[in-house]
Amino acid sequence: RDSWASDSSDSVISSGSDSDSSLYKVILLGEHGVGKTSLARIFGGVEDGADAEEAGNTYDRSIIVDGEEASLVVFDIWEQDDSQWLQNHCMKMGDAYIIVYSVTDKVSFEKASELRIQLRRARQTEDIPIILVGNKSDLVRSREVSVDEGRACAVVFDCKFIETSAALHHNVKDLFEGIVRQIRLRKDSKED
Ligand code: GDP
Repeated sequence: RDSWASDSSDSVISSGSDSDSSLYKVILLGEHGVGKTSLARIFGGVEDGADAEEAGNTYDRSIIVDGEEASLVVFDIWEQDDSQWLQNHCMKMGDAYIIVYSVTDKVSFEKASELRIQLRRARQTEDIPIILVGNKSDLVRSREVSVDEGRACAVVFDCKFIETSAALHHNVKDLFEGIVRQIRLRKDSKED
């Protein structure tokens, strides 16, 4: 279990640091039921139950990564309605993307590839950070997509890859830290 999710007090701090003060918009993409909301809520420190009802679908939080603060706003709005406008907007507005599939659902894995292609089309000239996420790694017996398949897909699509389990809070912290590192890498190379 990631200590980060259950004991959020150590990593949540108020804004005001000058180290990495901009706010990064991170968009969750993926088929229905793959675990987008579950991952976003773990990030936001929202427990299931009463809080969850009021949580809405954007989660902002500052986390410390490699000793520096970073502020992320995570948007879980991809499935909010079927409007083409919203989905187009999602493809345009993100500073970074998390494309989620379920390792128990081959169709969601294929959909993840489509989303990657759609994103590439929408942001042709830009090198935006993308992490491909195989969620539900705890469901060992119903797995339909192997780790190797996930990793190979990420190589083809030139993005990072991680398997997570929102149910066990496994690798969720690494996922969001990974996003921050990817954003910083690109920012640093631009500044050079
Ligand atoms: P979304 O539609 O992509 O936002 O998916 P949700 O976060 O609503 O999750 C869909 C269902 O899958 C819910 O019943 C979750 O409890 C369950 N779920 C999400 N992540 C995991 C996981 O890592 N492991 C298991 N076993 N179930 C999960």
